[in-house]
Amino acid sequence: MNSNEYEVLIIGGGISGGTLLYNLALHSDVQSMCLLEKYDHLDPLNSNAHSNSQTLHCGDIETNYNREKAEHVQGGAELMLQFVNNGSGDATLKRNYGKMLLGVGDEEVAFVKERFDLIFDLYPTLMKVGPDEIADIEPNVALVDGELREESIYGLYNPEGWAIDYGKVTENCVAQAQEVKGKTVEVKLSSEAIKLTRTENGFEVKVKNGDTLHCKFLVVSAGTYSLHLAQTMGKGKHFSVLPVSGSFYFAPEVLHGKVYTVQNPKLPFAAIHGDPDMTKPNTTRFGPTALMLPVLERFNAKSAVGFLESFHFSKGTATTLFHLMKDKDIREFIYENIGYEVPIHGKKSFLKQVVKIVPSMQLDDLDFADHTTGVRPQLIDEEKGELLMGAAKFSDGDGVIFNMTPSPGATSAFANAAEDLVAVTQYLDKQIDKKSFKSVFGVLPS
Ligand SMILES: Cc1cc2nc3c(=O)[nH]c(=O)nc-3n(C[C@H](O)[C@H](O)[C@H](O)COP(=O)(O)OP(=O)(O)OC[C@H]3O[C@@H](n4cnc5c(N)ncnc54)[C@H](O)[C@@H]3O)c2cc1C
Repeated sequence: MNSNEYEVLIIGGGISGGTLLYNLALHSDVQSMCLLEKYDHLDPLNSNAHSNSQTLHCGDIETNYNREKAEHVQGGAELMLQFVNNGSGDATLKRNYGKMLLGVGDEEVAFVKERFDLIFDLYPTLMKVGPDEIADIEPNVALVDGELREESIYGLYNPEGWAIDYGKVTENCVAQAQEVKGKTVEVKLSSEAIKLTRTENGFEVKVKNGDTLHCKFLVVSAGTYSLHLAQTMGKGKHFSVLPVSGSFYFAPEVLHGKVYTVQNPKLPFAAIHGDPDMTKPNTTRFGPTALMLPVLERFNAKSAVGFLESFHFSKGTATTLFHLMKDKDIREFIYENIGYEVPIHGKKSFLKQVVKIVPSMQLDDLDFADHTTGVRPQLIDEEKGELLMGAAKFSDGDGVIFNMTPSPGATSAFANAAEDLVAVTQYLDKQIDKKSFKSVFGVLPS
């Protein structure tokens, strides 16, 4: 093979691309692979610790997951934890923060109790906690001036909760892949893929810097950009991207762990929560809000072009958006979230959400977290006129895979990469090193 030819080419240097590169290099007999990233460093966008909530979502406190989804997400979270514990050699990638689901007011209290009955057998360490127990675990949630707060509160608490620095996991995976001896593992930074073409023997990828690369199998894990790249190859034509960003606020340290609130089940995003930021000591971070924006990168206005390329002004998108806006709860949620972005007023109305978690929080304690957040690429199925609630993958067994990864895409990255590892090795008639995979993850890839 000449130097720009690989068995597998991966587009995207976030956690989806990084975990797959790791799997191929360490747990298969694929000999040559390359990862392309358009920025000059890895994890520049959503996988960076500054862009996401750093939560290992396992379904215990996420009330928008039904039991089936909770169980599914739990499996993916377990793979991430196994990697961090057994495969990364870096204990700083994770931090133990207890996770709490907080119900405020009689209706939510009843809901939280029912939720426990629905899922408790999946989570042996999950417990129900009343106001006094909450006061012991998170005093600032339960108490105001040393007395129990006025509204009824109730929670689910899992001391086995984890924050993960998904950006560092990405870097760790790529570094380990590059250390594998006897294989070609290249990482090309500042290399934006601009044109993908199917050829007789595989794929040709044109890069903005003038390079042309070839591969037998192509995996596109380009986050918010994956859908457009898929559509240039005739895949997923009836989907549109709905980019959902959001903001965070910093406050002084008022929480020991992660405190999530009850989620609207009609929406695919976690409700506003408060938690410590792994990268910022003595701080509590509140958010994220959920703001639909016509860009694919929050802090790059030029990415509006990418949005226009992958959002279609069609009957299907109109129907989906109309159905969303018809629902009173969703309509109010959308307006509320737009309101959070309005200067001065935004902070005041966001405070109302924060006070639900920490009732003594004051306006002056909240600071807008600048350059902190990312974009969740939610998909609209134009044929069905529906908003998809989670990730999407176009994998038709024809040598190319496209991954679209809204939350909890970072938690599920190893599960997703294991699926891709199976698809790639089957297609190329290669073998997975099951023994080495199992030694890290404790299970076989599926
Ligand atoms: C506010 C927020 C909070 C979140 N919280 C959580 C959480 O707590 N837990 C959780 O599990 N998930 C969370 N998520 C979701 C999670 O961050 C994403 O699912 C995950 O990071 C996606 O990883 P990725 O590698 O697929 O995409 P990305 O990290 O976006 O990586 C894609 C990469 O592809 C590159 N790229 C794009 N186009 C090209 C091209 N043409 N050529 C070369 N490179 C290209 C980009 O530069 C980028 O580096 C959150 C997301 C947001 C926005």
